[in-house]
Order: sequence, then structure tokens, then C-alpha cells
Amino acid sequence: MSELTMPSQVKNLMAKYGFSCRKSLGQNFLVDANIVNKIVGSAGITGNDTVVEIGPGLGVLTREAAAIARRVVAVEIDRQLIPILQETLADLENVQVVRGDALETDLNRLVYGENCSHPGSRPFIIMANLPYYITTPLILHILNGGYNFKVMVMMIQHEVARRLGAAPGTKDYGSLTVAVNYHAGVEFLFQVSRTVFIPKPEVDSAVVRLTRREKPAVDVPNQELFFKVVRGSFGQRRKTIQNALGSAFNSVDRAALSDILNAAGVEPGRRGETLSLEEFARIARGLAGLPEYKS
Ligand code: SAM
Repeated sequence: MSELTMPSQVKNLMAKYGFSCRKSLGQNFLVDANIVNKIVGSAGITGNDTVVEIGPGLGVLTREAAAIARRVVAVEIDRQLIPILQETLADLENVQVVRGDALETDLNRLVYGENCSHPGSRPFIIMANLPYYITTPLILHILNGGYNFKVMVMMIQHEVARRLGAAPGTKDYGSLTVAVNYHAGVEFLFQVSRTVFIPKPEVDSAVVRLTRREKPAVDVPNQELFFKVVRGSFGQRRKTIQNALGSAFNSVDRAALSDILNAAGVEPGRRGETLSLEEFARIARGLAGLPEYKS
């Protein structure tokens, strides 16, 4: 195990480079060898895999992944960390550090290069101890980006992890739950105490594994319409599904909307947050049959 899991060594390294953690970039470095092993072990990396790491920090997860993977490509936004990473990863030939914002990075291009189209290429693995301030946008960027990844193992706030795996009708269930489960299978792996980071964050974390589905969890003719139904249903949680969708789809006749809900087997007085993915999909299919949504 590398010295990067020893708090005294991490502090020395930061002092050597005059580096101070930036809260605005979610910089809380993991210093627990057991958790590092568990995260890397959960990604199912083999010697044939390429791993994309978001936010390598000082390189603690990077080193462990590189010991197994064929190649690790790590995207780090903070310029000040680049010389540190050059030192901590100096002995590893299969690691490439790219300075950039993961939210604006094309991960397929990063892995396969400029001219390599990915169909038929081996899917990659994504690993991250995610900066909390971009958790939701980054998950959505990755899931909606058409990226050729198979598994994403990430450490996120415990509260967000609960939302990803929430069941309909619970307070944690929301449009993020639906968006993630539409694209991926979600597994809550384990909880992580805030005490294993330098500096200590304000919240506890959890590690989750998302396994990208071959095809979306539900079959819808128009994905945009499906997500408009989902957003419309969760946007006004106190309203009944009939009223929430009546506002979101104000050009649709009220009687037509009632018919669609009935045909979908959804009682119009229910709240949006009680609907399953399949029920949202049935409503979206009904709406897609209306003249204004037929393409
Ligand atoms: N992986 C390291 C670890 O486990 O100790 C660092 C994790 S720290 C929670 C998050 C890292 O993500 C920091 O290194 C931070 O600079 C980086 N980061 C923050 N925003 C980023 C972004 N938009 N794109 C890429 N990296 C980012």
C-alpha cells in the first residue's frame, strides 16, 4: 500500500508543494488503505481494462488501480495537483494524467483517441471519489454522454447514494433516481465515515456501483418526452399526477391526459413520487401517441 494512505506523509507532501486543499473543488483526500482497496476491488478491474478516474487528487486510488489495470487515464481539474501527481505516480508507466474539467471532457475521446470510434471497442471502467459539489451533474453527464463504459464505482455523499437506490413512494425517490436507474443498475456497496479523509468533510460518504444497462430499463419511443414526464411529475411534488402533468403539458387537453393516465393504469389522484419507472414509461408512451408528439 502506498504512503498516500498515511496522514503524516500526505501532510508532508502537501507542505512540500505548498498545497492547501480547496473546499470549492471538493478536495478531501482519502487516507484509509482498507477503503482504497475496497473501492478498487469493487470496480472488478482486470489486466485488460482501461480505467478512467475522475479527480485523482494525490493519486491514492490511481496507484491501486494502475497496479491491476492495463491503463489508467485520470482527469484532474486542479493545476496545482499536476506536479504532485507527477511525483506520486512517477514509477507507473500505465498512467496518464490529463488536466481538465471532467464535466467538459469527452471520456470516449480520452480513452479511444481522436479518430477511434468506440463501437466494438472494449468498454472502460470509471472510478471516482467524487467532488461533492458536482456529484449530480457529473453522474448525469456520464450517463447521458453516450460513453462506452461498463461500470462506474464512485464514492459520493451518503445522502445522494440513498437517493440513487430509493424505492418509489419514499422521500429519497426523485428524478435523479429515475434518471440513473433508467441507464444503469445501482448497487449500494458500503458506507464510509468522514474520519478517513484529510481534511474531514462535513458529511459521511458511501460507495455505489453503477452498471450500465445494455438498453434502458424501460422502453420508450421518445426519451426526451419520458424525462419531461418525470421532471413534470417531481417538479410539483404536492400536486396530483393529473395536475402536475396538466401544468407540464399545458397544450394537452385535460380529458386526453386523464385517458392516458387511465390507460397507463395510473390513478390520476396519485402523487408523482409514487410512480415506478414503468408507470412513467406508460404515460410517456401514451403522450407519444398524441398528434403533437408523433414524429
Ligand atoms: N481521488 C482522490 C482521493 O480519493 O483522495 C481525491 C478525491 S477529492 C474528493 C476530489 C478530486 O476531484 C480533487 O482532486 C479535485 O481537485 C478534483 N476535481 C474537482 N472538480 C473536478 C472536475 N470538475 N473535474 C476533474 N476533477 C475535479
